[in-house]
Amino acid sequence: MKNITVIGSGTMGNGIAHVFAQYGYNVSLVDVSAPALEKAIETIGKNLDRQVAKGGLTEDQKAATLNNIKTFTTLKEGAANADLVVEAATENVTIKLDIFKQLDEIAPAHCILASNTSSISITKIGSVTKRADKVIGMHFMNPVPVMKLVEVINGYKTSKEVTETIVTLSKAIGKIPAEANDYPGFIANRILMPMINEAIWTLHEGVGTVESIDTVMKLGMAHPMGPLQLADFIGLDVCLAILNVLHDGFGNPKYAPCPLLVNMVTAGNLGAKSGEGFYKYTPGSKDLVVSAQFAGR
Ligand code: NAD
Repeated sequence: MKNITVIGSGTMGNGIAHVFAQYGYNVSLVDVSAPALEKAIETIGKNLDRQVAKGGLTEDQKAATLNNIKTFTTLKEGAANADLVVEAATENVTIKLDIFKQLDEIAPAHCILASNTSSISITKIGSVTKRADKVIGMHFMNPVPVMKLVEVINGYKTSKEVTETIVTLSKAIGKIPAEANDYPGFIANRILMPMINEAIWTLHEGVGTVESIDTVMKLGMAHPMGPLQLADFIGLDVCLAILNVLHDGFGNPKYAPCPLLVNMVTAGNLGAKSGEGFYKYTPGSKDLVVSAQFAGR
């Protein structure tokens, strides 16, 4: 395996491209948006600078990593020679099914098609291709260059050989794989999202404030950040989309998203990326300031 195509150059795609390129793979990074590709290369450059400053990489290794990445705006150019595709486009089922249908036509027959989806069924994605045995979930965590876990998700028809290849490859790029079967939310979000939703209910019902809820979970459970801050970091729209997948997939009311989360997403307060969620974010500042919506509550 030498040629890796990464589709989508946003938060996750640029991190996935960075890591494969750092480990010497030829990376084709594909996005429908040329400005997104430019921004991704800039972000990768900055993140590599941070690694160099910390002594984790040399300047030569940084240059070699950047040299291993080529950018494209069409799947045809970017995936024709791929040994593995890792799709990290927007979390939208219509977009993903369309990409996989096209990839099945464009990518070589031996190519494994992986998705970084947080919640969409790998079996469903595989079902629109003629190679469901070669379709698998490769769920990296954010920020990809830092986080060790890759959740490897076996679709209903994913072959054992393909799973073994992806487990071995994950280890080869310095990650630690953990396997899951393809049910709503897989392992990570099946457990994480109900906790975040419960934290939002706890705030909604006035049991605690933003600060007290996050402090209890940080100091009491030794979590690196509280669930409300984590929700802001993930994106409240992403949290809502995953809870809807859990709710629809299991038909169990315990997964119903808290109405406060629904309201915040409808109002456009999506967390760090929109500048405000449970906290307010000011560019250039690392201070954690509770949103005025929750001050004194
Ligand atoms: P993002 O919005 O930051 O980036 C998505 C990118 O996909 C954008 O640049 C967009 O232009 C591009 N795109 C959209 N349609 C495309 C198409 N047809 N072809 C090529 N590119 C296309 O999203 P993200 O946060 O990087 O999430 C990407 C995937 O990773 C999603 O499936 C998400 O669920 C998953 N994920 C996200 C996180 C997270 O913390 N953000 C963590 C794990 C997994």
